[in-house]
Amino acid sequence: MALPEEATVYLRIWTRQPCVACGAVFHYVRRFTVQRRDMMFNATVESVSAEYRQHAAQFSEACPCPQCGYVQPDMIGLARSARHFTVNFAGLAFLLAAIIATGIGVMPRFIGCTVSGGIPLLALLLQLLIAMRNPNRNLKANQGNAGNRRAADSIRVEDAGRAYTNPLIGVSSLSLAAASGLYLLSAACLFLPALGSWPVWIGQIPGLALFLFAGSRFANLAYALSERALPHQILEVDAIVITDDSVPPDFASQPASVV
Ligand SMILES: [Zn+2]
Repeated sequence: MALPEEATVYLRIWTRQPCVACGAVFHYVRRFTVQRRDMMFNATVESVSAEYRQHAAQFSEACPCPQCGYVQPDMIGLARSARHFTVNFAGLAFLLAAIIATGIGVMPRFIGCTVSGGIPLLALLLQLLIAMRNPNRNLKANQGNAGNRRAADSIRVEDAGRAYTNPLIGVSSLSLAAASGLYLLSAACLFLPALGSWPVWIGQIPGLALFLFAGSRFANLAYALSERALPHQILEVDAIVITDDSVPPDFASQPASVV
């Protein structure tokens, strides 16, 4: 049966996650609020639940291990690669604006090329800040966060695991240097036409391609962390349909992100 016109579906999805650092096995709940206008016309509670179950099986959400505080590699990798993409798309929008403005003569050639060349440098700085940030540098704080979630019954422990051993999962400095080099090369290509009289696009097109490639390198490096995680499993999907303005109490406040 299709859902009524005015409805909100509140979903709780329990995921089972083994920890790479201490071997504990815990279950954590993810909450999703789906408005009727964001669903298909003939959506049912079952179809919405199935869609979100599939999404949750594919992508994890950042939740520290309640035993040792470690945030799993795929949780870090997914959040980080999304941020790398955001920086690259924002950079792309600014670059296109600068290139078009220079191309049609709104911005003088030298200024236009300097602005275009500066964008990859700024993007590189942001990408390195994102790549270097380690959500596992303060495990005590993460344990505190997990403790709060456990107290609110958002985390349950199935197996207490062993002692913590640092799995040393990260991105190699060599790969980061290679991805950074692409941004520098892009900056050089975009700036160089400022010095000559050859057509601006000779530098701008390869510079733009290098910019996009550099950003995707950063995102791929982050995403590759996901392969180091132990597989998670969806245990249960619980859906509530609400047709007025009320909100289930545990949906009113969401835990702060740890990544
Ligand atoms: Zn752990």
